[in-house]
Amino acid sequence: MTENASSRLADIRAEITTACKIARRKPEDVTLIAISKTHPADAITSLIEAGQRVFGENRVQEAQVKWPDLIERHGDIALHLVGQLQSNKAEDAVALFDSIHSLDRSSLVKALAKAMDKQDKRPDLFVQVNIGSEPQKGGCAIADLPGLLDEARRAELPVIGLMCVPPADIEPAPFFALLAKLADDHDLPGRSMGMSGDYATATKLGATHLRVGSALFGAREG
Ligand SMILES: *Cc1c(COP(=O)(O)O)cnc(C)c1O
Repeated sequence: MTENASSRLADIRAEITTACKIARRKPEDVTLIAISKTHPADAITSLIEAGQRVFGENRVQEAQVKWPDLIERHGDIALHLVGQLQSNKAEDAVALFDSIHSLDRSSLVKALAKAMDKQDKRPDLFVQVNIGSEPQKGGCAIADLPGLLDEARRAELPVIGLMCVPPADIEPAPFFALLAKLADDHDLPGRSMGMSGDYATATKLGATHLRVGSALFGAREG
């Protein structure tokens, strides 16, 4: 188990380094987030012991059950929220996470601003963009992005970048390139893009945050 975790981690880090070389980027400008949703504390511990310090979850409640103990035991872990966030969970999310990748609507700007002021804690934020204009997907419409970013700026939210999940089963590169262009247009340094199947492509196209689950942990059961 532990050996598996560390060899998977080493393989993925090596691929990221290769992609960075091709794109003339520095590997230290790319953060690998290990998406640990559905995986138990044991599997997570193996990865922590292999040197991984940045993790992501997609549900606030699951993270609240799993992470306080792990953080107490291992300390110095950065936790990212990568799943859709309900406004009534904003306070819990601000309390637990160091970064939130799913700001996608006005009501959440207000809820996050309120929670941050109340707790005097300001996690980094990414605005999630519905990059393939898919009706069933989360994220703000590309046309609504300027307005939402304006609103977030007025609320003094610490937005550092954009995030996307491209449509499944088609070549993701054009969507990564579009997200990078949108981030450039708005002077945002962060690009949260690339998952298990396409993190090398995303790295070549400028990803600063890769969200990798199954390639690190093995397939999820649920
Ligand atoms: C689960 C998830 C990932 C990781 O997916 P894998 O294909 O397992 O790497 C990345 N981003 C989001 C938003 C997710 O929900």
